[in-house]
Amino acid sequence: MAGNWKMYKTPAETIAFFDKFRPLVAQSNHCEIVICPPFTNLAAAVESARGLPIGIGAQNIGWAKEGAFTGEVSGSMIRALGASHAIVGHSERRQYFAETDGTVLKRTQAALEFELTPIVCVGERLEERETGRTEELLVTQFQNGIAGLSESQFARIVIAYEPVWAIGTGKTATPEIAADAHRVIRSQVRAKFGRAAGDSVRILYGGSVKPDNVKSLMAQPEIDGVLVGGASLDPVSFASIVNF
Ligand code: PEP
Repeated sequence: MAGNWKMYKTPAETIAFFDKFRPLVAQSNHCEIVICPPFTNLAAAVESARGLPIGIGAQNIGWAKEGAFTGEVSGSMIRALGASHAIVGHSERRQYFAETDGTVLKRTQAALEFELTPIVCVGERLEERETGRTEELLVTQFQNGIAGLSESQFARIVIAYEPVWAIGTGKTATPEIAADAHRVIRSQVRAKFGRAAGDSVRILYGGSVKPDNVKSLMAQPEIDGVLVGGASLDPVSFASIVNF
């Protein structure tokens, strides 16, 4: 159960979140919890989650270890802060910051190189869904991105299916729509990396997940977890999603 805080919260607000969140998930051993705050809050989040089974992730990752890449933050820097995960290829990065399937692959490989678990995001825009091209788009994103990994690299990633039309809009994909998309992704995984990889890869659903719709989404066997934006900013709301 992963939270993406996007560009919200200061370090002080991060500490305040964890003070409330910790007791609410103290018994939540049924799942892995990951919170991805802005880079500037990673240290505060790592410190606040110390000793707890809560992973902390970045929301992006530079593809080089270091160098003249103004504004980028590398995997070695993220790792040095004690983070364990990195979101890669979020649709907001694709939409506003020219992220492509090619750069998503490079960032995914960088995360793996620095022993961070990449949460690789894919998903169609409204126009692709409305013109019946969802499957085509998911296949393209897979083939141009994730398929460039080796088998052993692939075994260490998490995929997040996030239909762009459902992110931050209050429109959740129905559990059936989400499960259909997960099946498309899983069949691509099977074809490229084998049946066992297809069975074991974790695919999260993301897009307006809230405490009142998480249960029906998680009831789908195809859906292994959720990636939550807006509703992960509030400790009570995110804890009730975690404890669906
Ligand atoms: C996200 O940012 O990944 C996301 C799914 O956002 P929201 O839950 O707000 O739709």
